Amino acid sequence: MEKNDVVTVKIEDITEDGSGIGHINGLAVFVKDTIPGDEAEIKIIKSKKHYAFGKIVKLIEESPDRVEPSCEVSRSCGGCTIMQLAYAAQLEYKKNKVINCIARLGGIPENEVRQKCEGIDGMDVPFDYRNKMQFPVGKDKYGKPVIGFYAGRTHSIVPVSDCRIGHPVNAEIITSVREYMIKHKTEPYDEVSGRGLVRHILTRVGFHTNQLLVTFVINGMDWDGAKDLVKPLQKAAQKYGLSLVSVSLNINMDKTNRILGNKCITVFGDNHIEETIGNVKFNISPLSFFQVNPVQTEKLYKKVLEYSALTGSEKVWDLYSGIGTISLFLAREAEHVYGVEIISDAVSNAKENAVENKIVNADFFEGAAEEILPELYNENKEKYMADIVVVDPPRKGCDEKLLATIAEMQPERMVYVSCDPATLGRDIAYLKLKGFEVEKWKAVDMFPHTCHVETVVLMSRVEGK
Ligand code: SAH
Repeated sequence: MEKNDVVTVKIEDITEDGSGIGHINGLAVFVKDTIPGDEAEIKIIKSKKHYAFGKIVKLIEESPDRVEPSCEVSRSCGGCTIMQLAYAAQLEYKKNKVINCIARLGGIPENEVRQKCEGIDGMDVPFDYRNKMQFPVGKDKYGKPVIGFYAGRTHSIVPVSDCRIGHPVNAEIITSVREYMIKHKTEPYDEVSGRGLVRHILTRVGFHTNQLLVTFVINGMDWDGAKDLVKPLQKAAQKYGLSLVSVSLNINMDKTNRILGNKCITVFGDNHIEETIGNVKFNISPLSFFQVNPVQTEKLYKKVLEYSALTGSEKVWDLYSGIGTISLFLAREAEHVYGVEIISDAVSNAKENAVENKIVNADFFEGAAEEILPELYNENKEKYMADIVVVDPPRKGCDEKLLATIAEMQPERMVYVSCDPATLGRDIAYLKLKGFEVEKWKAVDMFPHTCHVETVVLMSRVEGK
């Protein structure tokens, strides 16, 4: 196959960033803007030894799963890469991706993986789900402020006023800020020169508390706009049944791609909002990590709780514990929970959250789980034993040293929460060698319209191993 060849291809699969994949003479071809089930005439734009890239010329036959994306800029914005796929088909695609990874990489026959699958938990309404949004502010070609999202893999800003996966209040916030900036001739930040003032708008909404937080990231020490905008922001909040609880400035004067600087100055209200998951309350400030889809997070944690099957007498380890969300969710049902997390601020947040919720049977350790766990366990095997181990690692999965220690501790059950099915499959293969068996699993769709999928797996220890 050569560049500029025009060929017909049937799309069979989809990549992480939402490109369709088809095959021509056994060679994989990636075609943007296509989905499984499409048949398309394409032009080859790049040809390599083992794969090629094509551009769609004409759709010959549309996939039955193709829908009109409910956002005008879904193609240019890098966020919702599979919005053109019907939601039911998105869920099916994600579930199959997990099945495939657990079977292929975990070394379990596919029919067995399917039998153990409790399905995928999707959203009833897969829109307006994100509680956190970060909108870059820049200039359009006429020098006017533009607020929206970076176009896929670039730093040019696509103007967006109504993002379908965020809270609808954002549209009003963006409009108010833009109007204010035009009226007062406020300079947006220019990434190339490093000049200009306003860089980003960060919004966070407590879905269960109806509280709103707005932070302006600025390349300077102060901006009157933040105070002047309080009234219009309050009005916008009210319209959606929210109350504006916090407005702040975040200082970022570095020429960097990093969105947030380390310093925040509260200009109105509190320095944080509150949110609840189940019956646990959390304080969220502009810099804290918090799960972005609260509705699905609760479903995920409930599954973790169910798989943990706690009776009140168990010792639980929550490894990769973040701000302690899973630990605190489980603590009320367990004898004791130990959390381990590498980021110092997150550990402080976890401890504060425990105090706020009057939870006294949870301790948090700071450091790499693969170092802390073996250290503590070898120090005092009785104190630091585990009935249940929960892991919720980042995409790269668990460190082998950590899994080896968990195996040595011989917990009755392990609950693996994964955000990457490939590393999940790899870790399952290792845990099988160490005497654990997959009992059941469920996927949860935390990020509709993107390719991401979360999975909760219950593994139990096989006696005698
Ligand atoms: N369970 C939490 C957070 C999971 S995200 C929640 O549901 O909110 C994964 C977490 O692992 C992040 O907070 C990250 O900082 C932490 N992490 C990454 N590498 C780690 C390591 N080696 N040891 C401990 N924590 C780690």
